[in-house]
Amino acid sequence: RFSFNMLKSHEADRKPGIIAVLQDVTEQEELERVRQEFVANVSHELRTPLTTLKSYLEALEEGAMHDPAIAGQFLQVLLSETDRMTRLVSDLLQLSRYDARQQLLDIRPVDVSQLLYDVRERFRIRIRQERIDLNLELPGKGLPFVRADRDAVIQVLDNLLSNAMKYSNENTTVTVRATQEDSMVRIEVADEGVGIRQRDLTRIFERFYRVDKARSRSMGGTGLGLSIARQIVLAHGGTIEITSEWQKGTKVSFTLPIEEEREHEAT
Ligand code: ADP
Repeated sequence: RFSFNMLKSHEADRKPGIIAVLQDVTEQEELERVRQEFVANVSHELRTPLTTLKSYLEALEEGAMHDPAIAGQFLQVLLSETDRMTRLVSDLLQLSRYDARQQLLDIRPVDVSQLLYDVRERFRIRIRQERIDLNLELPGKGLPFVRADRDAVIQVLDNLLSNAMKYSNENTTVTVRATQEDSMVRIEVADEGVGIRQRDLTRIFERFYRVDKARSRSMGGTGLGLSIARQIVLAHGGTIEITSEWQKGTKVSFTLPIEEEREHEAT
């Protein structure tokens, strides 16, 4: 689409006339549409838990408060909805800091293998509880250090592993694999879970996009985990991709740049 502006030419050295200015506004309109959609989504995402909170509070006020069993149950719902709202707001804040480029990365040489062992440790209890196998595959010759913000990469892996576990059944395996590819290290998180249909796959990194809203919400999801992971990876100069087969499993893979100066130390 184009905007069309007519200007009168007044300059003395030109013949009087009219100048027509054609400007491509497709991109501006697209940005504005995305912005409006985002605001509408945020409002909706916040209103839903608020409606829940209000109805449970009303029920308590109208008498449920005096039945200890019901009151206890209602309070649990209130607490978990409040937690989810808190998570939503902090995810949103984080995204907007990356958008505004205010979130400065603390880039240092990071030992990827060590970081992956640490992340596996963080998930140890959850793995046992959910009866999922977590497989860590690292090259025998070791891996070079990467240039990265350690905490930010941990967050990416937390988001990807939480998803892999959320959308997998018991007695399946989640595999985390790291390999070297030229000047990058590639990290993959692969699961044998529910998978994502091709038609949803193209939109999966969009903010708030969820295949199954009810399932995501009931698991405490905000629909922002993958968008945040993507923002962090791009801020490092890496790339992130997702492949999936419906009912078979999903693989998310991202790259981080190698720290050239430390390369020889680790290999
Ligand atoms: P959420 O908080 O809903 O998990 P994400 O941004 O992390 O938000 O993921 C967006 C959506 O992508 C999820 O709601 C889910 O539908 C789908 N998804 C993400 N990871 C996986 C996975 N490993 N297996 C199947 N579906 C997934």
